[in-house]
Amino acid sequence: MLGLYIHIPFCSAICNYCNFNRGLFDAGLKARYVEALIEEIRRSGDSCGYSVFDGNGPLADTIYFGGGTPSLLEPNEVARIIDCCRSVFTAAADAEMTLEANPETVTSERIAGFRDAGINRISFGVQSFRDEELRRLSRLHDAERARQAVAEARTAGLTNVSLDLMMWLPQQRLESWLESVDAAIELSPEHLSLYLLEVYPNAPLKDEMARAGWSLAPDDDAAEMYLTAMERLEAAGYEQYEISNVSRPGRQSRHNLKYWTDGEWVGFGCGAHSTRGHVRWKNVSSTTEYIDRVGRQEPTGTEVRRLTDRERLGDALFTGLRLNEGIDLGAIERRYGVDVWQRDRADLEPFVSAGYLVHDPGRLRLTRAGMLLAHEVMAVFV
Ligand code: SF4
Repeated sequence: MLGLYIHIPFCSAICNYCNFNRGLFDAGLKARYVEALIEEIRRSGDSCGYSVFDGNGPLADTIYFGGGTPSLLEPNEVARIIDCCRSVFTAAADAEMTLEANPETVTSERIAGFRDAGINRISFGVQSFRDEELRRLSRLHDAERARQAVAEARTAGLTNVSLDLMMWLPQQRLESWLESVDAAIELSPEHLSLYLLEVYPNAPLKDEMARAGWSLAPDDDAAEMYLTAMERLEAAGYEQYEISNVSRPGRQSRHNLKYWTDGEWVGFGCGAHSTRGHVRWKNVSSTTEYIDRVGRQEPTGTEVRRLTDRERLGDALFTGLRLNEGIDLGAIERRYGVDVWQRDRADLEPFVSAGYLVHDPGRLRLTRAGMLLAHEVMAVFV
């Protein structure tokens, strides 16, 4: 089943570390963008060789609004986009519909509106429960607003709430990081994503760190932050299912699992990626160029290309290793005709001996220590 991704590229302010495809909110531009999105969905990627599906299109069991800040949309705009998806694709009765939200953009009424539009999962970009860390990241909310946002989601009856936390922040040390982890656990979300802050060379945060003398904890401490958080989350009843993600049993992100299990998805909006029928494409990144292309009925997709079997296999191995359950080598052999263990054994065995990788009969998976070195192991496959 397909996943549908909807990109919303607007934010109230630009965070000093952000490297996503986004820009400042502008009400007029947003209104034009929503119309363009609906038109693109209606045309259903025919720019890339697909026809309009007329409601009998492929089954889709996830719709994911990512950004940017999708919660800057009005509930009626979210409803129109979801309705358009339903009119073109065959939505599964229990489809997972996620909205990424920033805590400062929601109220009880707005969340109830998103719920009425069809949203049944909300993912809050909390990042930290310490106000000084949030200020260093130039986030617009504080810890109290994040707590209130989760309470508002519960009041609206949402039973699938996810929180994003970021670790290895400037001046953050093990104890302060664990304060955020504990605060998140206290709110009892169904799902948590833990990301490592990456400070890009041209990020304003990099200059601010230099000016203010803020430092990052040593690498070994970062490893300790990750490992200790995972232990604490497991003790609280969460299951790690992917390098950066934990959930209550059965509450994994169905949409994101498509990226890690060799699945298929179609993305709409500027900069959105798609992978379907062995073809991969990316929409034009610029918001205005995207709107103009849709208006002129020109293809929105760029970099359209058919993946070779070798590329597909490389991707399946690379992403599959992110999962705790690892790679099903038998399934890979049936799909791609390659016995990966035999092919790469010489390169993989040193990682097994070092305790980073486990080769069970029929499976290959990283140990938790191996997750800290995931990219080195994955490099064998690409
Ligand atoms: S809210 Fe998210 S997407 Fe927007 S600027 Fe901040 S980090 Fe980037």
